[in-house]
Amino acid sequence: EVDSLSDLETLEVLGNGSGGRVYKVRHSRTLAVYALKVIPCYPPSKQVLREIEIFSSTDSPFVVGYRGVFQNSSGEIAILMEYMDAGTLDNLVKTNGSFTEAMIANIASQGLKGLSYIHEKKIVHQDIKPSNLLVSQKMEVKIADFGVSRMVNISHDPCDACAGTCAYMSPEQFDSETFGASNGFAGDVWSLGLTLVELYKGYYPYLLPGTKLKRAELMWEICFGEPPSLPEDTSENFRDFIGCCLQKESSKRWTVSQLLCHPFVTNGGCN
Ligand code: ATP
Ligand code: MG
Repeated sequence: EVDSLSDLETLEVLGNGSGGRVYKVRHSRTLAVYALKVIPCYPPSKQVLREIEIFSSTDSPFVVGYRGVFQNSSGEIAILMEYMDAGTLDNLVKTNGSFTEAMIANIASQGLKGLSYIHEKKIVHQDIKPSNLLVSQKMEVKIADFGVSRMVNISHDPCDACAGTCAYMSPEQFDSETFGASNGFAGDVWSLGLTLVELYKGYYPYLLPGTKLKRAELMWEICFGEPPSLPEDTSENFRDFIGCCLQKESSKRWTVSQLLCHPFVTNGGCN
């Protein structure tokens, strides 16, 4: 139990996000290690308060553990959480290259269990991507960063979702008239599917390595291009699973509960 920020000693910077800087810290008495996200704005924005409200309501092995919220001497908000000792899937794919199918089946299963948990609590994450999925050495995969998430029953500003990157947003998040207005859950499925394709290919699937697209061109590709697919040398189950996640029409996309029963997940990517 951490009572005060003064009990924590900073070890290193883990990452810099749009929302703030994340430090690796150690509790001086127990020597327990945590991650601490410091959000440099006072008073905290509505968005930050919402992040804390949503994150603090979670408790699942598939969501990064919430350990409390503090205010430092300058009034900044700091969120204490479980430290994930293998970093993000984004860092892993950049340093180790692409993942095997069996590893991706394991990540898919844990990611879906995380989504199933938050969706049951009526939380839409809205920012599922490799840098928001944290990993431990034991290959536990957990959802992090509720910075743009929302409760499904509360009306929202559609611009919120695009606060960060639009790269993992689903077609209906850009154009709900064409691709079907949805409750938002289907958008998280799209983002997870796209993330898994990226882990397999080793690069963001809408862009060949070394190329660039403007935001509007990317949006056009997501809405009107073919969804990314896998090469023929992958298993039928894997290709089918990705096809179910990356249905452009939100009503045709599989739900999390359906995907949890897909053979790619239940067979552990073995055939
Ligand atoms: P972004 O806008 O890039 O999504 P953010 O400001 O919303 O970032 P986070 O995603 O919460 O902030 O964290 C930023 C980075 O800090 C992560 O990409 C990761 O590298 C690191 N990080 C965050 N939380 C943890 C944790 N619990 N354990 C280990 N590393 C973490
Ligand atoms: Mg993040």
